[in-house]
Amino acid sequence: MNHRPTPAPSDAPTPAAATSRAVIDLGAIAHNAGVLAKAAGVPWMAVVKADAYGHGLGPVAATCLEAGATWLGVAQLAEALHLRTLLDAAGTARPAPGAHTTPTQAAPRLMCWLLPVMTPEAAAAPRSPLRAALDAEIDLSVSTRPMLAAVAAAANAQGTTARIHLKADTGMSRAGAVAEDLPALAGAARTAQDEGSVAVVGLWSHLSRADEPASGSTEEHLARFHHAEQVLADAGLTPGVRHLAATGGLLWHPRARLDLVRAGIGLYGLSPDPALATSAELGLRPAMRLEAPLVQVKRIPAGQAVSYGGTWTAPTERWLGLVPLGYADGVPRAAASAGPVSVAGYRTRIVGRVCMDQVIVDLGPATRADGSLRPAPAQAGDLAVLWADPARTPGAPTADEWAQVCGTINYEIVTRLGPNVPRHHIGAPTGPGCQEQP
Ligand SMILES: *Cc1c(COP(=O)(O)O)cnc(C)c1O
Repeated sequence: MNHRPTPAPSDAPTPAAATSRAVIDLGAIAHNAGVLAKAAGVPWMAVVKADAYGHGLGPVAATCLEAGATWLGVAQLAEALHLRTLLDAAGTARPAPGAHTTPTQAAPRLMCWLLPVMTPEAAAAPRSPLRAALDAEIDLSVSTRPMLAAVAAAANAQGTTARIHLKADTGMSRAGAVAEDLPALAGAARTAQDEGSVAVVGLWSHLSRADEPASGSTEEHLARFHHAEQVLADAGLTPGVRHLAATGGLLWHPRARLDLVRAGIGLYGLSPDPALATSAELGLRPAMRLEAPLVQVKRIPAGQAVSYGGTWTAPTERWLGLVPLGYADGVPRAAASAGPVSVAGYRTRIVGRVCMDQVIVDLGPATRADGSLRPAPAQAGDLAVLWADPARTPGAPTADEWAQVCGTINYEIVTRLGPNVPRHHIGAPTGPGCQEQP
């Protein structure tokens, strides 16, 4: 793709970096893709929703295609349209027309699974988002009959056949038709297919507890999935692409791999459940490093309160560092006096509340036991690292540690990184079809 970034000679922190930034190692993403593809043994979709989990849609999509993805998946329609624009600009081909052509790395398929609710009339209107989706040749997920009617109307108005994946709810109670509603949806889809409005190319669902192998949940999902297949078969539909597993399913439930797996979090080097297996145990490399130079280092007396509300007080005379990243950038406010940070190899944490654009980190006592001055372990300009791959940035905290101290999951830590933080992409894989643009 033509916005492929120039690889940096090394992914070591750059002391001269002027601002906060997220360094994204595309080599790590390519490595992770290889690990997951090998485990899956079936074609795979790179899930690049939410700006590729905060890692940057265009470069990540290009890297995944280079690494063997034949599908790209996003949640929202606007993202899908944006992705198609990027791919078109990069000269990435669309798959040959037809319901049964197989996508390739060079001509991948795009899928989107959250559609606007529209009447058939609105869907058929000239500038309807569903017509835009069909124009962009995006496979659409359909869970209900009104959604099917809207997609069929858009396809008729557009003079095309919509490629759809019927979604069954196999136990998550999120999107998808429940067993009671599936026969009517399948019957209506068969009728729309006979009329040429849609082609039912996929049957799919999503696992809710893939990271709990002992729960029996995934076996229940699979049983319901196979029942849904039978319901479709009874309606005369035999979609060629059955898919159920995300990263957790592909790693821990071989029977859920079916015809296609949808890999998200693992591509970015994070485990779907670090309590079950860590990134390192899975052979995955966290791809994001969030860093910023200290903008000030100073000494405060014992007893001095720090940040809004004075929720942390210096126990002794203290060195503090100021990091120009705050909750507006995606540093969770829940990280008050807890979020781990490494500065010039010195491991510390945020003290006091997280502010909108900045946080304060403790740099340790300013006096030694004998009363002499202890120099600050870091200076203004030194890089603070909030999270990274500790195998590549020694001493750095992980997104998993951040998730733990903030009471959330690694997915939320990386995806909430704000759009104001520049993404700096390094380590683009090289090889055929991957030349740098002039
Ligand atoms: C986000 C998502 C995925 C990817 O999940 P990971 O756990 O990140 O691999 C797959 N399928 C659907 C429907 C999703 O919403």
